[in-house]
Amino acid sequence: MTGRVLIIDDDDEFLMMIRLLLSINSFDVDTANSGEEGLKKLDNSNYDLLLLDVMMPQMSGFEVLKKIRSDEKFIDLPVIMLTAKSEKEDVLEGISLGANDYITKPFETEILIAKMKGLIKLKQLQEELKQKNIILETLAITDGLTGAYNHRYFYKRLTEEFERARRYGTSLSLIMIDIDFFKKINDKYGHLIGDAVLADLAKLLRQNIRKHDVFARYGGEEFAIILPHTNYEGAKHEAERLRKAVENNKFAHVEKEGEVTISLGCVSYPDASAEKPEDLVRFADSALYTAKNSGRNNVKFYKIQ
Ligand SMILES: [Mg+2]
Repeated sequence: MTGRVLIIDDDDEFLMMIRLLLSINSFDVDTANSGEEGLKKLDNSNYDLLLLDVMMPQMSGFEVLKKIRSDEKFIDLPVIMLTAKSEKEDVLEGISLGANDYITKPFETEILIAKMKGLIKLKQLQEELKQKNIILETLAITDGLTGAYNHRYFYKRLTEEFERARRYGTSLSLIMIDIDFFKKINDKYGHLIGDAVLADLAKLLRQNIRKHDVFARYGGEEFAIILPHTNYEGAKHEAERLRKAVENNKFAHVEKEGEVTISLGCVSYPDASAEKPEDLVRFADSALYTAKNSGRNNVKFYKIQ
């Protein structure tokens, strides 16, 4: 099929003729003989293109077009206006209302079909471009190895959440995580296994955080979790849960359970009086340092040790 087309025209004879013509040219054709009926069909089905008559009783083609273009769903639907008169004003009005092209009745079949195919192709390319952009946007904020958010996105979100917490007086927590003795894992198993452990750990942590928490790879073997609307109690609960989940997990590439553990440094705002988002990172880092110096595989809070 070349594309699925809806034709809205009040002239039933014309509809029969053009349905036949387009079907022969391998279009999948649907018709409506009023604007109201056409809008209903648009709502209930998917079309690649709309052929729209201008002059119709009750609802004119321009009115139909206005309705379509004000609806988010149909913003990209290609529309060709069919006008019986070649008056310049009609054409201009149609284009200014968002028609992609127009054709004057009586028309040359080849020209109509060429215009239709061109617009349908353009729509397909736009769809593909949209999909590619979504992929690119995701790649730009994601760490390749672990699938966690990257360092840049982490700071963007931390800044936003910090501003929000400060403005509305809500709480905000941050957890910094470091793998204990990661160098030993790399030395013992090699860097490829080290990478696999990082990826597995990221997956495990992500499975254990709450929906609205922001999980990022801060750098090397360090991860960070932003916990919006979460106070000390909530953050402590989550940090402990993560610590236990890692301790009790048998990682695929290492010999035994408990060989991979993490230390966690946490801070909660406004308990800790931060002036800027970077302060939270500094405070959580300092708590992480304390956790490391207290035997590792544990959770420490900034100022609330
Ligand atoms: Mg008409």
